[in-house]
This record gives sequence, structure tokens and C-alpha cells, in this order.
Amino acid sequence: MPKLFIPGPTEVYPELLAAQTHPMIGHRGKGYATLHEGIEKKLQQVMFTKNRVFIGTCSATGMIEAALRNAVKNKVLVCANGFFAKKWATVAKQCGIPAVTLDYELGKAVKAADVEKRLQEDSTIDAVMLTHSETSTGVLSPLKEIAAVVKKFPNVVLLVDTVSSFAAAEIRVDEWGIDLILFGMQKALALPPGLAFASVSPEIMQRSANQPEGRKGHYFDFMIWEKDAVKFNTSITPAVSLLFALDKQLDNILREGMENRWQKHLKMQQMAQDWAAAHGLTYFSEEGYHSPGVSVINNDKGWNIGEINKKLEAEYNMVIANGYKDLKEKCFRIGHMGDHQPEDIAELLGDLDKIIASL
Ligand SMILES: *Cc1c(COP(=O)(O)O)cnc(C)c1O
Repeated sequence: MPKLFIPGPTEVYPELLAAQTHPMIGHRGKGYATLHEGIEKKLQQVMFTKNRVFIGTCSATGMIEAALRNAVKNKVLVCANGFFAKKWATVAKQCGIPAVTLDYELGKAVKAADVEKRLQEDSTIDAVMLTHSETSTGVLSPLKEIAAVVKKFPNVVLLVDTVSSFAAAEIRVDEWGIDLILFGMQKALALPPGLAFASVSPEIMQRSANQPEGRKGHYFDFMIWEKDAVKFNTSITPAVSLLFALDKQLDNILREGMENRWQKHLKMQQMAQDWAAAHGLTYFSEEGYHSPGVSVINNDKGWNIGEINKKLEAEYNMVIANGYKDLKEKCFRIGHMGDHQPEDIAELLGDLDKIIASL
């Protein structure tokens, strides 16, 4: 199988794949509660929060739906600066939740001042949804600054999609005062897909408790989740095999240290940036807001990205990603999230050089 330098799913270490083959345990037994409790504590450590961390058996999109259903009372402002970000406004509407958007050109970062202005203009907004790292455009929006602005509005909660930034970029949930962050396993955590996580502030739980009948549905109701979470359990059958892999990976990450992991991703991002500059290529993402998890590079030379990727796979057993949706062939994406090391990125870039020289 080719080594994945795509922005998710990411390459998973064999020992983590193997951890999933642990014999099955019943999720109502003591062993499960111990596993769940340990995982929640470790998640709180890596998220820098004391808040409840829910473990959901769903993809990250499921957790987005959960966040919107439980946390929005009146109307959500969706910061729409990319394909993923824009989708959350659609999801809100499909759940019957009023949503308005703060629109940006593709490739631009969300700015704290724009969020502040919009919240001042419209007092009916009571939640802001931000996509921290927009995987389609490689933009990292300034979460700390945006959180500080949202804090000025006591009736507004901040919900953050950190799917491709968590464990790649600095995020400090409690210190920065973020009500809810959510992410899956298959991006910067470098695990197989299948579980999603959310940290929820007391304010979010309060809102969930007061939602009108029907707003939350059943599967994503935080109140139902909480009844079991206090016993380190879940109301439905969790994806136990994945939890074994997650537990091991959280140990690895805590051993590495979050600060070290953030630094490592910045270093790999810089390597990709230097490589692009050496080839006279520009970044699609706005200057100063490049995501440490994925580089989205403009195809300024008009290369055939599909062909380059085919050669990369055939000759070097690696793959990168073409541009997302409408951006196909206009740019290409190098995923440097997860457990890739600077040496892996150096090897990839070296092999890309050989392919480009042979074009
Ligand atoms: C991949 C991704 C998602 C979707 O995650 P799923 O696990 O496929 O639901 C959401 N947001 C961002 C920023 C992503 O990169």
C-alpha cells in the first residue's frame, strides 16, 4: 500500500493497527469503564481541558451535527472560508437550525475583527462555528484571537472543527475559553477512522438540557450521552477495537509531548514551504495562515498533478493529494499531519524532485 501524504486518512503505525486486534470485551464490564476513563483523562490532557470529553462512535461530521443540535439555541454564525467550513451551514439547515454565514474567498483565513463586527451587528446569533484548519485550502484561522473576541459576547458559544488541526496545531481549550472543539481520529491523530471526540463546556451542557423537543434527535443527544459518561460508559455499543488503538496512541502522544508535536508539524510545514519556493510555486493559503497539517500549493507551473501522483505511487510507493473538488489540478496538497516525521517529508520532497526533473 502506498504511504499516505494526503490530508486524511493519514498513515497509521503497524503497532496501532495491531492494537485493534485486542480480544473483544463487553462494554458493560469493568474493563471497559477503566479503558474509557483512562482515555477521557488522556484526551483532557492533550486538549488542555477539564471539561467533559465525549467519545462518539461516528465520523467527525456526526460530531459536527451533534454540536449544532445541542449547542445552538437561536442561530449559528458559520465562518465559511472553505469547502468544509461552508458545509457546516448546510448541515445546520438540514437539522432545522437557522444559520447565517460569514463569507470569505477561498484560501483566506477567518479574521477575529470580522467575527466581532458580525456579532455586534446581529444580536440574534448565539453560536459561532469555526473550522480551525480548512483542509481544502490549507488555511489555519487564528483560533486564539477569535475565541477572545467571542468571549466578549456572553450569550455566544464557540464551536470549533479542529479535525485537521488537533494534535498538529496549538490548541488550549480552557486557557483560550473554547466551549466546544471536535475532531476525528483519522487526521493528525494518525489512527484509523471511526470515532469522534468533543470537549463540552458546562454552558454547552446547560444549553443541551434546555433544547426544545426534537431539536437533538436521539443518537446525538448530549444529555443521553452524559447519563452514561459519568459511569465512563456510552448508551450505545462503542467501537471498542478503535478505543484500544486510541489508548495506545494517546500514550505515545503524551510521551512525545504536545508542544513537541506542534513544533514537529511546523517544521514539516516549513520544509514543504521551502520546497515550493525553490520551485517557484506559491501557496494557495493566505500568507501568514498556513496550516501545519497540510500544505495547499498552487500549480503555478501547470504540471499534470494526476500524472505526477501516478508516478509517485508507481515508482516510490507514496501518494499526495490533488486539489480538493473545484481546485483539482489548480493546486495540490501535501499532507504532513499525523505521525509523519521530518525525514519522511524530506524523502517525499526528494522523490517529487526526481519526478519533476523527468517531466
Ligand atoms: C476530514 C474533515 C472533516 C470530515 O471528517 P469525517 O470524519 O469525514 O466526517 C471535517 N472537517 C475537516 C476540517 C476535515 O478535514
